Amino acid sequence: MDSPSFSSQLEIKEFLRPILFGLAEEDLDTLAEAAVVCTFPAGAVICREGEVGEEIYFVVDGHVEIVKQMDEDTEHYLHRAGPGEYFGEIAILQEGPRVATVRAAGPVTLLEIGQEPFLAVLGRSPALGIRILVRMTGRLRDSDQQAIEELRRANIELIRALRQLEQLDQTKTDFIRVSAHELRTPVAALLGYAQMMHDNALIQENAELRTLVGGVRAGAERLHRLFNSILDLSRLMTDGVTVRRSPVSLPVVFQGVESDFEQALKERNLRLEVKGLKKLPFYAGDPDMLFKVMYHLVNNAIKYTPNGGRITVTGRMAEVPEMGQCIEVAVEDTGIGIAPGDIALIFEKFYRTGEVALHSSGTTIFKGGGPGLGLAIAKGIVEAHGGRIWAESPGYDEEACPGSRFVVQLPLEAQVESAIQPKV
Ligand code: ADP
Repeated sequence: MDSPSFSSQLEIKEFLRPILFGLAEEDLDTLAEAAVVCTFPAGAVICREGEVGEEIYFVVDGHVEIVKQMDEDTEHYLHRAGPGEYFGEIAILQEGPRVATVRAAGPVTLLEIGQEPFLAVLGRSPALGIRILVRMTGRLRDSDQQAIEELRRANIELIRALRQLEQLDQTKTDFIRVSAHELRTPVAALLGYAQMMHDNALIQENAELRTLVGGVRAGAERLHRLFNSILDLSRLMTDGVTVRRSPVSLPVVFQGVESDFEQALKERNLRLEVKGLKKLPFYAGDPDMLFKVMYHLVNNAIKYTPNGGRITVTGRMAEVPEMGQCIEVAVEDTGIGIAPGDIALIFEKFYRTGEVALHSSGTTIFKGGGPGLGLAIAKGIVEAHGGRIWAESPGYDEEACPGSRFVVQLPLEAQVESAIQPKV
């Protein structure tokens, strides 16, 4: 590139004249006198977004690129300015930091004028002020349109990616469902044989064999439970469920849950308190499904509460906006709690917090493993009954154990009039 081609102030004045047309002679003189010619090599940063800048620049030769930093790695290209164009005026007018970064697109020669003479001239020439304003608004409009176009394109990309993810998720769910379905039958047979072996007198007499068969039975039970949970969930998610409603006594349903966990509660030295359930009216719902909701909530409370803790199940009637009269059951524990960032996600299928490797294999031992399906199943069932479920916790802390509270609300209004015969 040729070096700056100004040999006198007069030439600078003549360069500025068409750009700032309409300026009085003495104002052009003031600017030409204050102007400094400077050159930058390709790639040099002339102004940096966020930094204070008190100069306006006029491009004499070469080009600059004006960009906005979106994040550490991404830039948003705004404009390319060539000979006769100027930049840097916004920071001067706003008396604020630079709103964009300007970089030399190649070797570039600029005229640099300080804010003081520039503002002095601007103060005397309202026409120049208006022209700058019009130019700024034009640029803003262009960049708005560009941004809208980019957003539109990004949106289309996102929707496409979402569709693909949904498709993949569906394929995965189908695969898991088919596998669970296929495997459940042989596992049920295995479980039956393991049970028969376990009950066999010869095996009962032999401590070593008893332990071995006990292990096979426990493993088969676990697999059976897992496949059943997967099938429950896939039915809830894909096939939709028919809620076979009949009047249900929640205390009776809960007794079943309590007896399933009696042994575990004893072993883990956990106290289970039940309050207010008996005062609840019969609820027209699906007893098997409601059993599963309670089962998973209590199972989790056991799993995530250290030995010696307390689990409280409270039933009450609640008047809820948009749902009316509801039966509310809350399961509260004195366990490790849930981090705020996880609280909404734990109801997603297969979502488990913490290191997967740390999930051990027991279903009721402290922080024992689980496939991450219990809450998704509970949510599906509650919603199929027209209700809602959510979790509350001050946070996750294995030392302080702030506890968690899971609340289920089931609206009475969704009940079926024809359900008459009480059934457990
Ligand atoms: P999982 O089989 O892993 O227990 P769930 O769907 O039942 O699957 O629960 C999902 C996750 O929610 C769990 O992995 C656990 O991190 C968290 N969670 C559920 N219940 C509790 C609870 N009572 N206290 C603390 N964390 C809980």
